[in-house]
Amino acid sequence: MWSHRHHLGIAELSKGDILHVLDAAERWFAMPRDEVKNARVLHGRTVVNLFFESSTRTRTSFEVAGKRLGADVVNVSPQTSSVTKGETLLDTVKNLEALRADAIVMRHPASGAAEFVSRYTRASIVNAGDGAHEHPTQALLDAFIMRREKKRIEGLVVAICGDILHSRVARSNALLLGALGAEVRLCGPRTLMPRAVESLGPTVRAMGRIDDAVAGADVVMMLRIQTERLAGAMIASTREYARTFGLNARVLGLAKSDAIVMHPGPINRGVEIDPRIADGERSVILDQVEAGVAVRMAVLDAVVKASDAQRATA
Ligand code: ASP
Repeated sequence: MWSHRHHLGIAELSKGDILHVLDAAERWFAMPRDEVKNARVLHGRTVVNLFFESSTRTRTSFEVAGKRLGADVVNVSPQTSSVTKGETLLDTVKNLEALRADAIVMRHPASGAAEFVSRYTRASIVNAGDGAHEHPTQALLDAFIMRREKKRIEGLVVAICGDILHSRVARSNALLLGALGAEVRLCGPRTLMPRAVESLGPTVRAMGRIDDAVAGADVVMMLRIQTERLAGAMIASTREYARTFGLNARVLGLAKSDAIVMHPGPINRGVEIDPRIADGERSVILDQVEAGVAVRMAVLDAVVKASDAQRATA
């Protein structure tokens, strides 16, 4: 059973924890809308979305997930909060806790920010992306879609291509897929590839050419270049990047004939992915967005229940 009061990263989850979320999300996903409404498992609870970085999908789907579970969901935007008056991250979180927030869903540009605040608060902290470190609910929803489409995770060949160095999505996916026994090929320009990717799992490898990474793959996941995290020019030009590392029909032709194409969004059309592929029949990009709600419902439910159980035995 899931026992984590906070959800900070894939690194701290067991295989059983991962399967618990995927199975619970499967139930939420399949449940008719009025049954979900009646379940109201987080009725009377307060979920706060605290996003210090831009987000469309993650913030909205956490909001929808909390509301579907019957919780009151509050969105705090640092741009219009006292953060602009110099309030620290910890003070902000302590104030939200004083309002009796049960869960705080947090996105922050600093790696480790979620883990840091989790040490000082009674609220459950859910990491919605911390710098280049982890984006665990994204990896869970990606695994949810892979399992639905391919009926398994173990033994799948998953190519993840793009700015691996700055991508919390790549890290969380490599950790999760490695734990579940998929082969993970991380591919990108040498300047955007971290050292020692093998440390993410025994089935994780780095590859320098997209053709090699995609050859025979079951899943091709494309990533955006994280321009907001680039220290300087790390690629020669966007056009050259699209030519050498972009997913087009020729490259996709090297994957298995039933391979699916994924992307966590936001897409930079014509850079890492040809728009015809993003909108094409192999693309499951919008299915990923839909799955995000069910997965986040499962996570919010799991952390609040774990927190209740720990309080009851304390
Ligand atoms: N939306 C994802 C994230 O927040 C991927 C991206 O921004 O490129 O990490």
